[in-house]
Amino acid sequence: MLTADAEGEGLNRVFWQQEAQHLHWQYPFEQVVKYVEDGPRRRWFPEGKTNLCFNALDRHLALRADRCAIIHRDFCGETHPLSYRELWQQVNALSSLMAEWGIRQGDRVLIALPMTPLAAVAMLACTRLGAIHVVVYSSITSDALAQRVQACTPALILHHSDSRGRESLPTIPTTAENMRVVDTASAAYVKQLALHMDRHVPCVWLSSSEPSHILFTSGTSGVPKGIVRDTGGYAVALLASLRHLFNLADDEIFFTSADIGWVTGHSYGIYAPLLAGLTTVMCESSAVNAPGQNWWHMVAELGITRMLTIAGAIRLARRQGPPRASLTSLRTLYLAGEPLDESTETWVRDVMAVSCENHYWQTESGWPLLAGQGTALSAVFSRSAEVINPLNGEASPEGETGMLIIKNTLGPGAMLTLWQDDTQHDQRYWLQHRGQWCYATHDCAIRQGNKIVIQGRMDDVINIGGKRLATAEVENALGDLPGMVEVVANRTPHPLLGEMVALFVVTEALTSTQQALLKQEIRKRLVERCGRHALPRRIHFRYQLPKTFSGKFLRRMLLD
Ligand code: AMP
Repeated sequence: MLTADAEGEGLNRVFWQQEAQHLHWQYPFEQVVKYVEDGPRRRWFPEGKTNLCFNALDRHLALRADRCAIIHRDFCGETHPLSYRELWQQVNALSSLMAEWGIRQGDRVLIALPMTPLAAVAMLACTRLGAIHVVVYSSITSDALAQRVQACTPALILHHSDSRGRESLPTIPTTAENMRVVDTASAAYVKQLALHMDRHVPCVWLSSSEPSHILFTSGTSGVPKGIVRDTGGYAVALLASLRHLFNLADDEIFFTSADIGWVTGHSYGIYAPLLAGLTTVMCESSAVNAPGQNWWHMVAELGITRMLTIAGAIRLARRQGPPRASLTSLRTLYLAGEPLDESTETWVRDVMAVSCENHYWQTESGWPLLAGQGTALSAVFSRSAEVINPLNGEASPEGETGMLIIKNTLGPGAMLTLWQDDTQHDQRYWLQHRGQWCYATHDCAIRQGNKIVIQGRMDDVINIGGKRLATAEVENALGDLPGMVEVVANRTPHPLLGEMVALFVVTEALTSTQQALLKQEIRKRLVERCGRHALPRRIHFRYQLPKTFSGKFLRRMLLD
């Protein structure tokens, strides 16, 4: 039996017990955390019963019904506010309609909607009924959507056939058995929903560790991993993070720029601000809402107080020069999801005159793991981090690259497991270190004094302006092109996007005209299969590529 870090664990239990008191529990919990057998999986507040939707909406009706819950900036740049009461009414109506369609606790509902309040309404309607929502990003490709549908076998897909400024819409799979597909842009849907407008649907009280949602992440194997998160632990952790990490007051207007299909949008675009009874800004991505002066005008117009985005967005915004709107309402800019470069940070501080925090996290963690200013970060409250040599488990000496691990537990709000794959969850993410379970981030890091600097993934994901693309996804898309023998995708630095794809290609004997044609085919195929962000910055033709004895490409040698 593994021993826990007794002191840390003891303190954490008291801490999380107190944090949980800020939520509504229909049935109280007895234990704060329970181990699943002797393995790394934990159950938080296991005996407690609660509901995410109740905590995000119903709980606020007595005191904040008229407060603005969501400010929607639509794709034309128009603003539409929605109060907690209005949001609650819309959620009840959709819950009622979904119940009529037969959606029950544990059913999966795939949400492929644009960034409109309807997406938030759909998420909350699911959690109200105890259904498990699976939100995908609004620019998802047809292949990626088909893969997710196959993996999570939803009982319902909600999509929107009106493009609302989106470049392209995926093909919605319709062939699966027992799966209802609903187009929320259709007149039939609008008519059906209208019949449920005044309905009230009671919340289904779920055990705290029942799944509330699945969020897919890209993986190095090209197969996305379905991150499963619980109900009570997620709510407690998000609310606690607003208090202890984001230090939010009661009057905040929070703008998370990420799509709700990405973890930052999911956690801080929707759930965290609503759980705290604050106002969140949902901004549809379009040319008028692109990073730059439009954003700064929006900050000034809406009085946004906190903003969470990626460094790449700020690099894009910088191209339009210093903000030409007053940013005095903005208290902090949080940058997450990719390495923060010094010049972006300096620009935020000096030109925007706003304080800037760097948050490091993963889809798996649900909320930040490390945070700080600049690139040298510290573990956030309740979390404990170390850099180790992945080969022998020893702590890496200062300044030497190792793997970042989180000791003992990720705490509540992180993944419960992988969808239908406990084994991969346990084996991929958890290792035993000095008698404790530790979470393997698979990120390279170095220790600088008592701080940690993140260097990048140990496996291979390319971060193109915050969009993560597995090298395998690119390689799989190109492998069968005529004339292609082998292809390796790698990252190459890009001044604006951070990284772009570089390709190393081995071909059959081709003339230079044929090579030029192949380049065109490669570009066309990548846009079709992976999206425009996958367009390579460079394509190198090689006679052969460096490989290990076991046939794995030596990507790092190609980087050099
Ligand atoms: P995802 O799960 O797609 O959100 O990506 C998580 C990965 O993004 C992490 O494992 C890191 O490689 C990277 N990442 C996230 N935040 C930061 C950050 N602040 N600095 C450096 N890399 C980051």
